[in-house]
Amino acid sequence: MSSSSSFNISFANQCIVVTGGNRGIGYGYTREIARAGGNVAVIYRSSKDAEDVANKIAQEFGVKAKAYRCDVSDAELVNNTFRQINDEMGPVMGLIANAGVSVVKPALELTAEDFRQVYDVNVLGVFNTARAAAKLWVEKDYKKGSIVVTSSMSSQIINQAALNQPLTQVFYNSSKAAVSNLVKGLAAEWASQGIRVNAVSPGYGIFLPVIRRDVACLSELCLLLVNTDQTGHMDKKPLTCASSTLIFVTLQAQEIAGQAILLLSDHASYMTGGEYFVDGGQLIW
Ligand code: NDP
Repeated sequence: MSSSSSFNISFANQCIVVTGGNRGIGYGYTREIARAGGNVAVIYRSSKDAEDVANKIAQEFGVKAKAYRCDVSDAELVNNTFRQINDEMGPVMGLIANAGVSVVKPALELTAEDFRQVYDVNVLGVFNTARAAAKLWVEKDYKKGSIVVTSSMSSQIINQAALNQPLTQVFYNSSKAAVSNLVKGLAAEWASQGIRVNAVSPGYGIFLPVIRRDVACLSELCLLLVNTDQTGHMDKKPLTCASSTLIFVTLQAQEIAGQAILLLSDHASYMTGGEYFVDGGQLIW
């Protein structure tokens, strides 16, 4: 009997699009797709080094990787960019709709412009890119395709309630609840086309220097958000948390990527419309 595993994941000869794939959590996705032999199209908004990031990935893993500047909130631009990617990079077979933004302000100060800023990327941007991918697959009658959306644990809980810090981002939290529901609706509508749609929802990571495995009280644990540019402006001092995680390791972009890679792959062929939490068990409290 062979002892080799049948669970190897390969994206060879496929192109996967990752929005916001040039940095933060998205960069973790980009690397893991390339590691699995996939060509990666990285969609970014304005970072100056996105092309360099893609070139480095191509060199390191010997795959095609290219950066495409595209604002995901612009539907026409998104459709054109997906067609260009499909022509230049080989057939697009998967999408990770990951680009996201937040406005951190007390609710009393929020404006309609703040609302549009968050929802245009976190909800409309996900819809635009998911639809652009689905259009390609339906037109070619592929009867296949996988879309993974980065939502957040805050689709379920309010950050302020969990943390002893004014993480005032009600538009962000509600946009993640909206996008987690969008995932279910798109999954239902496109299932007959063989298109699967799922969400990966990261939680908070533990800030390594303050880990003590012997904590008497779980509320003593200090948590930080996954440390990326989106959260970089927030107070970096450890946060005393009213709830906690069960897993005493730091949350890295790679751990989030592992879940997304599985959902993209054929090993997840019976998984659609789901929201999968990478949160160290924080939601059970
Ligand atoms: P970052 O702020 O590090 O990066 C955001 C990425 O999104 C960048 O690549 C940026 O491009 C891109 N982007 C933003 N707006 C647009 C737009 N209009 N069009 C195209 N691309 C755009 O984000 P994170 O890595 O922290 O977050 C990634 C995702 O994970 C988000 O959806 C976020 O909500 C979610 N998340 C993050 C958590 C965390 O703790 N960090 C926890 C839970 C969920 P550019 O570089 O050009 O600006």
